[in-house]
Amino acid sequence: MRSQDLSAALLELQQQHRFRQRHIVETPQSCEMIIDGKSYIAFASNDYLGLANHPQLIEAGREAMLRWGVGGGASHLVAGHFAIHEEAEEALAAFCGREAALLFSSGYAANQAVITSLVGRGDAVFADKLNHASLNDACLLSRATFRRFRHNDLQQLEQLLASTPARTRLIAVDAVYSMDGDEAPLKKLQYLADKYDAWLYIDDAHGFGVLGDGRGSAVEQGLHGERLIYMATLGKAAGVSGAFVAASSQLIAWLVNTARSYIFTTAQPPALAAAVLVSLRLMADEPWRRQRLQQSVSRLRESLSEVNIPLMASRTPIQPIIIGRNEQALLLAAQLKERGFWVPAIRPPTVPEGTARLRLTLSAAHTPDQLEGLLDCVVEAMQP
Ligand SMILES: *Cc1c(COP(=O)(O)O)cnc(C)c1O
Repeated sequence: MRSQDLSAALLELQQQHRFRQRHIVETPQSCEMIIDGKSYIAFASNDYLGLANHPQLIEAGREAMLRWGVGGGASHLVAGHFAIHEEAEEALAAFCGREAALLFSSGYAANQAVITSLVGRGDAVFADKLNHASLNDACLLSRATFRRFRHNDLQQLEQLLASTPARTRLIAVDAVYSMDGDEAPLKKLQYLADKYDAWLYIDDAHGFGVLGDGRGSAVEQGLHGERLIYMATLGKAAGVSGAFVAASSQLIAWLVNTARSYIFTTAQPPALAAAVLVSLRLMADEPWRRQRLQQSVSRLRESLSEVNIPLMASRTPIQPIIIGRNEQALLLAAQLKERGFWVPAIRPPTVPEGTARLRLTLSAAHTPDQLEGLLDCVVEAMQP
């Protein structure tokens, strides 16, 4: 893109209804937010358990800031690996039932770390078509042969695995698909990974804290083994920031030694690790958050299917309504906004062309009244 071409390119984005703008949030993340100066009931965050603004997390972060300061100041390998980081890693490993865990500043960085450290030229990575963009970027950066299989199509995946000449193979999937809310068939994927001697890398950004007893998709489905690598983010249900990888001690040692997005970046502020520890405790001790979330999911699905609004196959807090055209999705989102509900319209390239959607996300913090209010408005806006 040359400088003199920018204005025409931006105009084109606008004409395609693909132009993106940020909106200014003036409250903490929660169900009631002031955005661009107006109050809304928000159904837009990934703060599924309502922990992002929890007093105990805030207090833990505040105290830890007094103890550890604000900035990490150095990368983990230089002088930035604090005792509180180490403690959080041990707690995360124990929580997920794995030997070891490694903290990252973001899920984006964690995906890059795992994939580029394990596969390179001459190797092969097999990825679901609907994987998160951060996984796709990691696969491209790895320089391994990058084969994408149709969404959840294990037959196609098996054909690809059976015919690959690559020595090192890695299967990478989202456990919960972020724009659809449906899930990967993890048990069957594990079977294929074992059969074809491939790593199975699971990105559980949307399952951690939410599925099973909170320990996420892999634990819920009883996955285990040396080939299994689990990643979850800490900025979604955990309500903090960053991500972690849980795996064998050897794999973690390999990442510490070779993962460029781990080595060449400043450690997360240590106070965040203290907040993560509290978050893990709340996830374990307060199952009512998941129960409330589940009730909202059921209520939303029941209510929308009664009026024949088509839903995706999702039991998770991600409940999209496919609209189709970008313009139409934007119009509906604007109508909901007018009525005081903040629901994002998700458009290509985040989702495939022609599948623009309203992406409703639920939180344990939503009250039944807030949900009923939203559902009434959605139904009204979508009536022909
Ligand atoms: C949000 C998300 C990420 C990125 O995590 P960040 O911590 O926000 O960088 C990775 N994978 C999936 C599936 C996600 O939804």
